[in-house]
Amino acid sequence: MSADETTARPPQVMEIRLHGRGGQGGVTCAKIIASVYAGLGKSVQTFGDYSGERSGAPVRAYTRVSDEPVTNRNKVYDPHHLLVLDPTLLSDEIVTGLRDGGVLLLNTPEPLSAFTGRFERFKLALVDATAIARRHKIGTRSVVIVNTTIAGAFVNALGLTLSALEEAYAHLGFQSNLPAAEEAFAAVQVREPLVAPADQEGHVFRPGPTLAVMPLVDNVEGAPTGLRTGSWRTQLPKYVHNIAPCSAFCPAGNDVIGFVQAATRGEAEAAKVLGKSTPLAGVCGRVCPAPCMAGCNRAEWDGAVHIRGLERWISDHHPVAQDSAAPHPSPKRVAIVGGGPAGIAAAYELAKAGHEATLFDGEPSLGGVLRTGIPTYRLPRDVLDREIEGVLRLGVKTVLGKFLSRGELESLATDYDAVILATGLQKLRGLEGPGGDLEGVEQGIRFLHRLNMKGGVKLKGHVVVLGGGNTAMDCARSALRAGASRVTVAYRRSRHEMPAIAEEVQEAEHEGVEFQFLAAPVGFQGNGHVEGVVLAAVELGPPDDSGRRRPVVTANQSVLACDAVLLALGQSADTSLLPAGWELGGGRVSRPGPKGEPEALPVFAAGDLSTGDGTVTHAIGDGRRAATRVMRLLGDDIPELTRPDRAKAVPITDIRLDHFEPAKPTQERLIPAAERVRHYEEVNLGLESAMESHRCFSCGECTQCDTCLVYCPEGIIRRKDLAYAVDYTYCKGCGICVTECPRKAMEMSAS
Ligand code: FAD
Repeated sequence: MSADETTARPPQVMEIRLHGRGGQGGVTCAKIIASVYAGLGKSVQTFGDYSGERSGAPVRAYTRVSDEPVTNRNKVYDPHHLLVLDPTLLSDEIVTGLRDGGVLLLNTPEPLSAFTGRFERFKLALVDATAIARRHKIGTRSVVIVNTTIAGAFVNALGLTLSALEEAYAHLGFQSNLPAAEEAFAAVQVREPLVAPADQEGHVFRPGPTLAVMPLVDNVEGAPTGLRTGSWRTQLPKYVHNIAPCSAFCPAGNDVIGFVQAATRGEAEAAKVLGKSTPLAGVCGRVCPAPCMAGCNRAEWDGAVHIRGLERWISDHHPVAQDSAAPHPSPKRVAIVGGGPAGIAAAYELAKAGHEATLFDGEPSLGGVLRTGIPTYRLPRDVLDREIEGVLRLGVKTVLGKFLSRGELESLATDYDAVILATGLQKLRGLEGPGGDLEGVEQGIRFLHRLNMKGGVKLKGHVVVLGGGNTAMDCARSALRAGASRVTVAYRRSRHEMPAIAEEVQEAEHEGVEFQFLAAPVGFQGNGHVEGVVLAAVELGPPDDSGRRRPVVTANQSVLACDAVLLALGQSADTSLLPAGWELGGGRVSRPGPKGEPEALPVFAAGDLSTGDGTVTHAIGDGRRAATRVMRLLGDDIPELTRPDRAKAVPITDIRLDHFEPAKPTQERLIPAAERVRHYEEVNLGLESAMESHRCFSCGECTQCDTCLVYCPEGIIRRKDLAYAVDYTYCKGCGICVTECPRKAMEMSAS
């Protein structure tokens, strides 16, 4: 039967019925078909048949097409054509009422031969819409949205043209799904009816003169006037930006969700997002304890998104630091003392804004602890150099190789418009006990400084490291690489209370470092050279100010024989660096004024010196905040840099987990422990790709997943300019779009 034969007796009304499951977009598919015909100048009517069904429940939708206004508003019982969007719905019953000769379109991977002997009265059309839609990434991995794809196949099966389809997609704002629809248009397999139809009632329309394409709702005969809801609707759905926990938890103030989402589209875009807040993404992507991952909503479901690994991936594949600074109408001169992460971040922030920043550091090169403390097997120096280079390219000046005296600090405050002190923690905690001056007892920080800045350091025999933080872990692992035959970390609390990054402890353990917990050092034994550490057994008491259980040292002592001891017992700010009368409080320096009252100086403090927080990410955030305070003081009209309120971050209870598929996080590749202890090369080789970014829920941020559009019972949400527009004239305020939004990127509001 040709199209011409079927159009010989045009029917009054052509009726189409669709069967799908909630979430597949069947209602939208019916609307696309209606829109194709509306574009061809026909009167159309389309509606869904469901109530409160959730994703996966069977759903029906109907479309009527006519040359005359459509007045019948019943459901469609005897369709001219029938579409089955989900293969699991296919049964002999589902075709009930389908008229002889009508198109029966099935979404199936099967070939036509699989239907030999079945559905012979109909024009059978097959397309693997799920595979096509999945290939084009329409929907999520768990819910593939086949509507736009199916529509392409159906248009071909009906004998309509590709241009009619393209026009409808342009009109509906579905252009991004057009390639899938076109693929389905080309891929559909058709078998003409094998049994002569008893009823030759036509079911293909000869396209009439094309009218100006009207919005779909205006072509839905009879429906809109009755559905206008503006006067009695009490609430409206709105697209919002809620705070993602990863961003709320990042002390550096990075737009974490922004760069993770951008990474799904490419490194360059993601690097741009990161570069707004940090020049040290390759550093943080390696050594950050990643509070963002602790906050990630996936952490309590199937494992946090590997945000740190992604940050590293991005910075290793694209420069992160901005490549040009904004010109400033009246640039100011700011001195920054201390070239660690806090100082570097402050300089970057000032340089980006067009100010002249000069970094002073006593070491011959910038980096602070990143260069002098953290070993190369965790942070290769080419990564550090590359990122510092990015900051210097913005015009930041340096004065290196001289530790400034108190007098020199004081004169900076008059020579420059403002000063930021970011000198870190220079005071090392020792051990008050006998034997501290024995040869072989050394501060771990000094050992790491020698190792990192001079190299060639050798150790032998049994090395005992005292402490449980990052310095202790770095000392222990470096001691193994420097030749120690055995390394023991003695720590006064339990493993659970160790402040070191958990992965570092695990990696140290894998490399063969031994641990002795609940052991407090009380002295050393030896004759000129250390021969043993005296350790007192510890019992844990009630929690102290830090929330950890207080170690109670007992009289039960033992001696751990050793050849060397590295002290990693903590560091604190050395305020003796401050000129006489200077007082540090709340991140700002003051001195007594003429009447003795405190007079604030244009001198700020940042990083460990100011907060003692002790992580690179905190230092970066604090450096940025100090720079912002300086700029505000010097007259820049910029807001204060504040951290998002963690309490307002989207909780996992607001995430529609049924829209996502559980998937374990991607792991970074590590060099095997036995091999890596033989050298100082980087141990962690990072992620193999940025695919991990696709695990992000995008908490609180719209990803244009179309769920709102698919679930809207009124069909009045449309894609517009890479976002959505709700036609509030017809919105009933039912809230289904908001409830179904997988990621809390919509809310109901009163206006
Ligand atoms: P710093 O990095 O300490 O930099 C201060 C700079 O000031 C130094 O370069 C110093 O030379 C300079 N300076 C001091 N006085 C003067 C002066 N008078 N004149 C001129 N210059 C001066 N954090 C993590 O997040 N992850 C880790 O894995 C990690 N590992 C660590 C390992 C070790 C061994 C140590 C010691 C710390 C580690 N930390 C880690 C903590 C982190 O390195 C610090 O919190 C961070 O470096 C603090 O940055 P900052 O800029 O405030 O100070």
